[in-house]
Amino acid sequence: MNKIFLLTRWVKFNTVNHCYQFLSMDTKELWQSVLTQIQFDISKANFATWFQNTEIVSIKDDKAIVSVPNAFSKEWLSNKYNKLIAKILHELDDKIRDIEYIIKPQGVKKEPSIEKPNIEQLNFEEFKIDKETNLNPRYSFDGFVVGSFNELAHAAAWAVSENPGLTYNPLFIYGGVGLGKTHLLQAVGNKIALAHKKKKVRYLSSEKFITNIVNAIRNHNIDVFKNTLTQIDVLIIDDVQFLAGKNKTQEEFFHAFNALYEKNKQIILSSDRPPNAIPELEERLRSRFEGGMIADISFPDYETRLVILKNKIQEKRLNLPEDVLDYIASNVKKNIRELEGALNRLLIHSRMNGSLPNLDTAKRLLKSYVFSPFDVANYKKIIESVAKFYNLEEKDLFEVTRKKEIVKPRQIAMFLLRRELKYSFPAIARKFGGKDHTTAIYACRKMGQEFEANNRLTEEINLIKQRIYSG
Ligand code: ADP
Ligand code: MG
Repeated sequence: MNKIFLLTRWVKFNTVNHCYQFLSMDTKELWQSVLTQIQFDISKANFATWFQNTEIVSIKDDKAIVSVPNAFSKEWLSNKYNKLIAKILHELDDKIRDIEYIIKPQGVKKEPSIEKPNIEQLNFEEFKIDKETNLNPRYSFDGFVVGSFNELAHAAAWAVSENPGLTYNPLFIYGGVGLGKTHLLQAVGNKIALAHKKKKVRYLSSEKFITNIVNAIRNHNIDVFKNTLTQIDVLIIDDVQFLAGKNKTQEEFFHAFNALYEKNKQIILSSDRPPNAIPELEERLRSRFEGGMIADISFPDYETRLVILKNKIQEKRLNLPEDVLDYIASNVKKNIRELEGALNRLLIHSRMNGSLPNLDTAKRLLKSYVFSPFDVANYKKIIESVAKFYNLEEKDLFEVTRKKEIVKPRQIAMFLLRRELKYSFPAIARKFGGKDHTTAIYACRKMGQEFEANNRLTEEINLIKQRIYSG
């Protein structure tokens, strides 16, 4: 037994040394792979600022030495991005556990053009975002897989793209994270922009929209801003749930909405939930959002996940064995973004190794994407998800108050603790600081009845459950 153990240690030790002898040859590739992954996680601007002219200069034992062009970069990489870089590096090479950043001024570089990440090779899709429309041309109807989970949203989006302003106005698409809302919204925008060169199409994330309004107010040019808004033919605002509680933005948006609507200009919106479930949304705006077509996107089933994977591997020119595809489609269920992440992981691996992963390798590489027995509901997830859904702080749920905006979420949290985790009533009461568990009984019974009878509440609870179970 001991001998075998020693032998394994010895082999491991030698493999490690062996591996490091050759690493000088591979560090460039390794760093390129790190950069490829990082560009999925951070914005284009941040990527260009912090990762240009960086490289791995060597690997000593379990430490990667990364050179950066100046002290400022060193500070940022080691404080802000170290965790991300370390995680990716460790995933690519599990022997690497530590990173040291050293400053190597640019002038010292011998071959800067080779050492810089090759933008074409990295396929920086983000770089192609159109400055006028803010649209990314990679999002098209062509690459969009349709299944029962998204067919209504797709059909509505297609109809709008054929006849902007005249079919459904506004078009409101909602669904969970990573399920294709942004893709669909941008596909509509791209199609219209291409077919009608004169039409002004603008895509804005809600965050960007809010910032623009705040800046315009601060700089006293809100009228100019309003004026530009009303010149738009197709206005696309993504993730409008973020407008919750932003009163000034909502007010300006309401006026812009009316001005555009009256002129038959198309408005397309997305959100992670239906309009009636967005907290702190002005009633008049809610009713505008509900005035056109509302379509949801839910989760793709196994067959659709497989089709999506097959489509993506064609796009990426990656040829994976059937059993690997089946493994991904059966196990990566959270959303389409995760499916893509899993494929990218395998793509990087096959680029680095020059061979396609087999099933065992795929299983090893995709551990973090696969549903694990730990992905279940727990107390923390329930409280966190309920609070987040209603735009509250977690502590608000425990506040002793009769405020409507708190009582309902608190009752829902109690109901979910009972239903999902089988908490006893006294246990629920204890969690909520009550001496008396009849409140817990009342809350659970009330929510239970309403859950059966009230569609809106059923939908809200289902959306919260989706969050609880998708990590
Ligand atoms: P959301 O905006 O809902 O969070 P995204 O639109 O960003 O989701 O989609 C996440 C990723 O999945 C994107 O890369 C997108 O291209 C891809 N995707 C989503 N839906 C589909 C689909 N139906 N067919 C192909 N790719 C999809
Ligand atoms: Mg999105």
